[in-house]
Amino acid sequence: MKVLIINAGSSSLKYQLIDMTNETALAKGLCERIGIDGRLVHETDKGKHTADMAMPDHGAAMAIVLDTLLDTQHGVIKSKDEINAVGHRVVHGGEAFAESVLITDEVEAAIEAVNELAPLHNPPNLTGIRACKQHMPGVPQVAVFDTAFHQTMPPKAFLYAISYDLYKKHKIRRYGFHGTSHKYVSENAAKLLNRSASDLKIVTCHLGNGVSLCAVDGGRSVDTSMGMTPLEGLAMGTRCGDIDPAVVQYIMQKECISAQAANDLLNKKSGVLGISGVSSDFRDLSTAAKDGNERATAAMEVFAYRVAGYIGRYAACMNGLDAIVFTAGIGENDIGIRERVCSYLTWFGVEIDPALNAKRGEALDVSMPSARVRVLVIPTNEELVIARDTKMILEGK
Ligand code: ADP
Repeated sequence: MKVLIINAGSSSLKYQLIDMTNETALAKGLCERIGIDGRLVHETDKGKHTADMAMPDHGAAMAIVLDTLLDTQHGVIKSKDEINAVGHRVVHGGEAFAESVLITDEVEAAIEAVNELAPLHNPPNLTGIRACKQHMPGVPQVAVFDTAFHQTMPPKAFLYAISYDLYKKHKIRRYGFHGTSHKYVSENAAKLLNRSASDLKIVTCHLGNGVSLCAVDGGRSVDTSMGMTPLEGLAMGTRCGDIDPAVVQYIMQKECISAQAANDLLNKKSGVLGISGVSSDFRDLSTAAKDGNERATAAMEVFAYRVAGYIGRYAACMNGLDAIVFTAGIGENDIGIRERVCSYLTWFGVEIDPALNAKRGEALDVSMPSARVRVLVIPTNEELVIARDTKMILEGK
């Protein structure tokens, strides 16, 4: 079975064609600048192919993806019929979706109904679904939600301490994101430790451009750091994370800006970029810090301090901790950040082996043999989770 994975953003469309017989990616790529001019980046084991091509909308981009997959030079399939199913990443499933689903007209309408909760993400996700229906009529399509894994959170974790009427009227509650990643790495952590997920209390740390932590107790998400939107929680590349809500109004007054402008400021110009004034990328921050830039050092300190603090909080919430998992761009690659976070946690029984922690790119237990809490590095693979769910739904399991 071959599954095409689609992740459609406002002006981009990422894709991956996965052969499920051995779970390998046959091709992956990205259409970017959709609606502006259009650029394709396509990769297979034959190499990388880039081209500037007109992409007035997602439908046009989808046609280009299919043509490229079928291309005699850069392609990997001979006929469109080889694509057995399409798996879509959908950011927000609200309270309607606790698991992945086969997309029907009703499901599409239900996704549209939560557009309000994720106005930047869900509309382009739907556009991607519609573009696939247009170009591959009759091919089953599955929606996999970033929020679904966290639907097991109990009310004490998902309720905000505001009027319950606001929750009921407007669905204002915590949902959490990066669910496919937290699910994948927590399951793989259990495998790496050779234990059953049902016996483990794990904190998974997805540290990428967006950052979220998840408390996984017995294989189920019981708490996570992002909230109604992906702005809550940790300090991120450009997002502020937790902040006194009164600060928002204060910034609006002092800077004479609108609510929309304040929201933009907290989403796009805050986080480690805001503190450092240098970059949202941790490679740039490390270089700047080594060159003596104190704000870059402060940004990395705030980042690590908050991650460590949330790990402590989740250890308390779960009343125990067996393992911490680092994943995504920073979690998988930034040895210094892992070291800094773990330095706060020795009291919990975290002890990492510096030589093991210096390794990159493979799933690894980087703890000392004596450590009571294991520290694991596990590369995430959100596309594979989407492909597996799609296959499972198609096979009716
Ligand atoms: P996204 O959330 O967009 O999927 P990623 O998980 O790819 O993001 O993470 C991107 C971030 O990972 C970059 O902004 C950068 O901060 C960090 N990163 C990537 N590679 C390295 C590296 N070798 N060392 C330190 N940080 C890295």
